[in-house]
Amino acid sequence: MEFRYLGNSGLQISEITYGNWLTHGSQVENDVATACVHAALDAGITTFDTADVYANGAAEQVLGAALAGQRRESLEIFTKVYWPVGPDPKGKNDTGLSRKHIMEAIDGSLRRLGTDYVDLYQAHRYDAFTPLEETMQAFADVVRAGKALYIGVSEWSAEQIRAAHGLASQLGVSLISSQPQYSMLWRIIEPEVIPTCQALGLSQIVWSPMAQGVLSGKYLPGQPPPAGSRATDEKGGANFIKRFMTDDVLTRVQQLRPVAEELGLTTAQLAIAWVLQNDNVAAALVGASRPEQVAENVKAAGVQIPAELLARIDQVLGDVVTSDPELVARSTPPQRMI
Ligand code: NDP
Repeated sequence: MEFRYLGNSGLQISEITYGNWLTHGSQVENDVATACVHAALDAGITTFDTADVYANGAAEQVLGAALAGQRRESLEIFTKVYWPVGPDPKGKNDTGLSRKHIMEAIDGSLRRLGTDYVDLYQAHRYDAFTPLEETMQAFADVVRAGKALYIGVSEWSAEQIRAAHGLASQLGVSLISSQPQYSMLWRIIEPEVIPTCQALGLSQIVWSPMAQGVLSGKYLPGQPPPAGSRATDEKGGANFIKRFMTDDVLTRVQQLRPVAEELGLTTAQLAIAWVLQNDNVAAALVGASRPEQVAENVKAAGVQIPAELLARIDQVLGDVVTSDPELVARSTPPQRMI
């Protein structure tokens, strides 16, 4: 495994980070989830990313149980707050980035994860209905209480990141990461978010580097998805992945196979290595529904892709790549969630 510093902090994280969205507490049984976490640890992964909203708290619980007994100092555990969490009917304040919700949510996350602190506490989206000053003050208080060591954001625009960074600096806390979607197919952070973060000292830790499995090449155009894959997961996965499941995308992804083979890689490994070519990316957040996938994916660590192959990838994918920076801001819900 290779390690990178997260932003301008002294925290090192494994450049392949294990994430458990849609899998733990939902698509996969708990014993398989535990086997995936152990495969990650065996492969040298030390960094784990989750969120309170994943499976409405169950993902944090399953991850916490799978990591129980590990040396805490040798792990970096990341979680997030924003989306509605809690028993139904949820209360008005069971969502967002108000002081009340942040203070209550961090305690719920720590309880479920079975740890006294998280290494990184992230705002899962921007909350347009809470003053940013209130949010950043609450995050700073979470850090001062020792419940989180660093703070980060997810799917925030360059402008939002700049404003938050200014407040965090005044409050004396370290805002060191941005967690956006980024893959060969989804490049909307390149024009604005990445240059802004480079200037301010934040790294990207990028989600769905494999476009949820599509960039592994296992989905074939015109054919039904393989049994047990995310595209067949009616608990949520099938809905989230469908944006990429067009014949045009799937046909072009098949054409990446010879590029991967030139490097002695699988297509999945090529996709993960691709996001790691960008110096501002500290980690690829990779999911898995089986331990064998983890073992395959970690081999993307440390791979260099020559410039001519990067150009070939761009040629192959052509106009199926999404690059519009306007889409960053659009991932923030325009109305309150509850
Ligand atoms: P990926 O793009 O890595 O997709 C992972 C999925 O692809 C696996 O669950 C598996 O699904 C399939 N897969 C993995 N390896 C292989 C392989 N070698 N060959 C074939 N298929 C493979 O990322 P995710 O979409 O899972 O997201 C990763 C993490 O990013 C999340 O766990 C979470 O931590 C974070 N995230 C953050 C978000 C945010 O808003 N901040 C949003 C979404 C994710 P299957 O076997 O079922 O097909």
